[in-house]
Amino acid sequence: MDFNSLLRANIRRLKPYASARDEFQGEAAIFLDANENPYDTGYNRYPDPYQRILKERIAELKQVHPDRIFLGNGSDEAIDLLLRAFCEPHKDNIVSIEPSYGMYRVCADTHGIEVKSVLLEEDFSLNHKAILKEKNKHSKIIFLCSPNNPTGNNLDPKGIEKILKKFKGLVVVDEAYIDFCPDETKVSWLEEYPNLVILQTFSKAWGLAGIRLGMAFAHPELIRILNKIKMPYNINTLTQEYALEALEKVEEKENYVEEILAARTAMFSALKEVKCVEKIYPSSANFILVKVDEATKLYHYLIERGIVVRNRSNVALCEGCLRLTVGTSEENTALLQGMERFSFKEEAA
Ligand SMILES: *Cc1c(COP(=O)(O)O)cnc(C)c1O
Repeated sequence: MDFNSLLRANIRRLKPYASARDEFQGEAAIFLDANENPYDTGYNRYPDPYQRILKERIAELKQVHPDRIFLGNGSDEAIDLLLRAFCEPHKDNIVSIEPSYGMYRVCADTHGIEVKSVLLEEDFSLNHKAILKEKNKHSKIIFLCSPNNPTGNNLDPKGIEKILKKFKGLVVVDEAYIDFCPDETKVSWLEEYPNLVILQTFSKAWGLAGIRLGMAFAHPELIRILNKIKMPYNINTLTQEYALEALEKVEEKENYVEEILAARTAMFSALKEVKCVEKIYPSSANFILVKVDEATKLYHYLIERGIVVRNRSNVALCEGCLRLTVGTSEENTALLQGMERFSFKEEAA
């Protein structure tokens, strides 16, 4: 895999900013190289720009070499950096499935990069042939998301594999929700497919959306490229420390996953009994997409009751659909009650 020829020319030529911490990495007693305040506030020093300790822990947990890990200020940072590195504005394009996560398009639009979107099938399965047909010589990255947001399903691994084999650019598989179905991860495919990039995050199952920490797993050469163009200290000390603490108690995350999956099962059964619900889509994530009568009306009715869900009724293939995040059992009960009252009110009207 020749990453260099895939790169934008200016990035290929770029000489990255060398921070004080890049120039000197050994042990020393006196650091007078970075214009920091010398007095110990706990946070007077710049953080490790490559988050070495944190990556070692993540490497153990994920069973990947630390050289294959990039950490970003949310996985959104990795999405943005991939576009910056590989897509020439007003010339290159990305291919994305539709419906899917909105940030691929927002990032592409920000950079002036065209998005070629390919509809999923009616049952939200992947049409790999349509994707391979849609790409052209200016396509640099194909974005897949599995489990997919907002549909909740995993994409067929055979289809993903065909795309990895036939496409000469990068294939991003966004696994933001993989902790809810860990057996589906494609992390073990990294050795075989140098063009594979996997995104994961601490924002969902880990319960740490507030610390902004996302992961990208890829070929070491690709990780070097991302390191070259990222902001020098993109992961702050507080986040690095807090993530290390969370990694010391993985069982807490696993307990959350267990609770949420049990609540999801309960939601499924309960939603079947709600009048205004027309269809409940299967989910491998921590949310459920439902087709309802009068989606937008229901959405506003719920807001009046202080309950916010995601209105996806204007999204392709999701007409009439709301996306419901699985909450605590109290929150889910309140949501179900709201939906039932709405059904009753609509029927009476
Ligand atoms: C929530 C989500 C993310 C997470 O983004 P962060 O920047 O890590 O918070 C990424 N991809 C998808 C599909 C998501 O739904």
